[in-house]
Amino acid sequence: MRCEQGYLCDVCGGDVEHIWESDLYLRYVIGQVDPETLHTTRERHIRCNPTLAQFIVDPDFEAVLVEGTFDKRQLDERYVREHERLITRGWRRLKELAHLEGVSLLDYPLPEVCQRMRDHS
Ligand SMILES: [Zn+2]
Repeated sequence: MRCEQGYLCDVCGGDVEHIWESDLYLRYVIGQVDPETLHTTRERHIRCNPTLAQFIVDPDFEAVLVEGTFDKRQLDERYVREHERLITRGWRRLKELAHLEGVSLLDYPLPEVCQRMRDHS
């Protein structure tokens, strides 16, 4: 599905080589990007979008810190907990997808996001 050349990061210009590095696919599996706009939205590394990346809490993911207004340590605790739960699950989903074959793009997202997409179509 991804073309051989891969996609270049809009922030650092580097290659977004793996699906688990992709901010675009992360936002897709958690329901923030529609399947229709997936191919027209610019790609970036997850780490190049620190305001989102800071919510991934996983031993396999080197923690990202944000300084300033969007630092999660400055945000509402409940909001942070909910986001950490969702975005960490999204990231683990990407790691899982990297090892699965023959999964339709529409089945990439987390179960509740798939359900929501079905309800709306
Ligand atoms: Zn980048």
